[in-house]
Amino acid sequence: MPELPEIKSRAKEMNQALAGKTITGVEVVQPKCLNIPEEAFIQNLTGAQFLEAENRGKWIFNQLTNGWLLINLGMGGEILLSFRENLPEKYRLVFDLDDSSCLVINFWWFGYVHFVASGELAAHKMTAKLGPNADEVSLAELHEILKGRRGGIKSLLLDQSKITGIGNAYVHDILFLARLHPLRTADSLNEAEIEALHRGIQEGLRPSIEKGGAFYEVNLLGEPGKFNGEDILIGYKEGNPCPICGTPIVKIKTGSTASYICPTCQAI
Ligand SMILES: [Zn+2]
Repeated sequence: MPELPEIKSRAKEMNQALAGKTITGVEVVQPKCLNIPEEAFIQNLTGAQFLEAENRGKWIFNQLTNGWLLINLGMGGEILLSFRENLPEKYRLVFDLDDSSCLVINFWWFGYVHFVASGELAAHKMTAKLGPNADEVSLAELHEILKGRRGGIKSLLLDQSKITGIGNAYVHDILFLARLHPLRTADSLNEAEIEALHRGIQEGLRPSIEKGGAFYEVNLLGEPGKFNGEDILIGYKEGNPCPICGTPIVKIKTGSTASYICPTCQAI
């Protein structure tokens, strides 16, 4: 599933590739991924110009001359800059652009492509309550997010309304970097542990952001990200030695999800 490093990379690529281009036509193969009727979607998007793209967590926000094009790839998918004569076999939406290229969107399973008119972003329920981007959260903001919360630290990191962009791909390494057990409660962390968590979030996301995201997602040109399996420290590496102390990594059950930890470095 694409998380902050992949989506931030896509937003950056879209910003570079699309700014100033105008949509000349829209083909909708999967109307279910839209938030408004297909005809209204096509009418609003045709003639709109891309201004700027950025990510908020796992969502891409494309600012247009008349509103916003919001994209969420769900469990995974591709956003490709292509040409009509070179379309992939499977796609859900195509935006034709005024330079005769096109933006092609595919979802492996299901995703969202929403149009929100200017000034109405606050009424878009799926994004209105997103927390701050995980890679941009300050130490002071993290303090606020953790304050008085008795739940486990892992579920808090995955709660997109508190802090957005982290999912099951990166959370294991983030907690490992912070030397925190996933079941530690947020309100049990002391000052040094909160600072370690802040650093862990930064250091757990930055390498992948710098490498254009994980290898299992592709960029706008269809090339895979350069954050590879060997860049992952402990996530999904059950039985491998901990890179710090050599203790074998274990997979444990944490509520409804599995977690990968070093039982020595991340003692509860
Ligand atoms: Zn260890």
